[in-house]
Amino acid sequence: MIACRQVAKALANHRYYELPWYRRIPMFIHIRLCVMCGKYHQQIVDVQRGVHDYLEHEDAGDIETHVHLSDEAKARIAEAMEQK
Ligand SMILES: [Zn+2]
Repeated sequence: MIACRQVAKALANHRYYELPWYRRIPMFIHIRLCVMCGKYHQQIVDVQRGVHDYLEHEDAGDIETHVHLSDEAKARIAEAMEQK
């Protein structure tokens, strides 16, 4: 098993999804099994995967960029602004 230090160094210097599979797999196993650094590094991997997914969707142009508020939500926001 690779060391915590190696996982930390690799994640600090590279994006998880850009690493070759032969480096990602031992890292993934370590993160799953290591109580010491697993939780922390799992969060980093999740965030990096999220960014990767976002970028892929952005490239594909299928991101919903418009946020639709319900009339009720709009009224609530307007009301909150008037109170200030
Ligand atoms: Zn570890």
